[in-house]
Amino acid sequence: MTQHIVNISGGKDSTACYLLALERGKPFRAVMADTGNEHPETIAYAKSLGQLTGGPDVEIYRADFTERMAKKRTYIAAHWPAEGIPQAVVDRAVAVLHPTGVPFLDLCLWKGRFPSRRAQFCTEFLKADVINTQVIDAARRAGPVIQWLGVRRAESIARRHSPMWQTIRTPRLHPMRFYRPLIHWSAGNVFSYAASCGVDPNPLYLQGMGRVGCFPCINSSKFELRAMANRFPEAFNKIAEWEAVCALTSKRGVGTFFAADVTPEGAAMARRIKQIEDREARNSASAAAPWPNAHVVAEWARTDRGGKQFNFLIDQSDDGLSCSSQYGLCE
Ligand code: SF4
Repeated sequence: MTQHIVNISGGKDSTACYLLALERGKPFRAVMADTGNEHPETIAYAKSLGQLTGGPDVEIYRADFTERMAKKRTYIAAHWPAEGIPQAVVDRAVAVLHPTGVPFLDLCLWKGRFPSRRAQFCTEFLKADVINTQVIDAARRAGPVIQWLGVRRAESIARRHSPMWQTIRTPRLHPMRFYRPLIHWSAGNVFSYAASCGVDPNPLYLQGMGRVGCFPCINSSKFELRAMANRFPEAFNKIAEWEAVCALTSKRGVGTFFAADVTPEGAAMARRIKQIEDREARNSASAAAPWPNAHVVAEWARTDRGGKQFNFLIDQSDDGLSCSSQYGLCE
């Protein structure tokens, strides 16, 4: 029998997907990957859906980096000294590389860096892999699967050509189909549909957030960061703590959550350093540069100054840029 699995992010689109699955009356499972970087309200909201609607409880899964971190400790101890990395740096990295219980932080410690727009490995390791390895693979061994995804074409440029149906075939597993029932919906359709079902949106939408999910997300716009800095300064304190720990596992001793050139000062610094021809001098300048940390970004977000405002203007419409995942794993 075909198994229906609805992916939940805690955002409006996946909630509408859940409600639609409920309305269509087919038995289904609802699953969510908790990155450890969501606002507690988002996890609480997802967990409340079952009780609110009489539907299935949302099953929450988390990535575990214990084994990968152990291997990385062994690798660092064996290889970094041969690369000329000072023993104190090696010892520091090995001492810090232990699971913290927060998947997002553990991923960054293991990688020795934070994800970025160009290297958005967070979606893969914290969401897609988690759901695939802990839910989907086992389900596909038992029978065909339809994964419901709350993806809308209007929500981002990356998703504008997303198909409603997509079939995935893998040797030795039953076929899986991605189903994007909201593909032609607008954000307004989504909110009014949930309202017609008597379900309020995640409360974070009423507190200035255009999207919910990681809090903050590496793709958060200046508009969202400003709302976050004003209402939830603790989110930036958390990230600043992670930056301090993550820097200890980096060869260069640096680690910033946000893109280095997100602020005007960071962008100017990046341009200056890029012009240094000698590689070693460039690396040293980069290691010594005061890249904008979470507190600096929070301050900048409160200002009207420029910087890299990926989606500051269009974020308030339904056509904003967002996470480029086609699978609706990050809202
Ligand atoms: S919500 Fe943002 S930070 Fe979180 S996994 Fe997705 S892209 Fe990465």
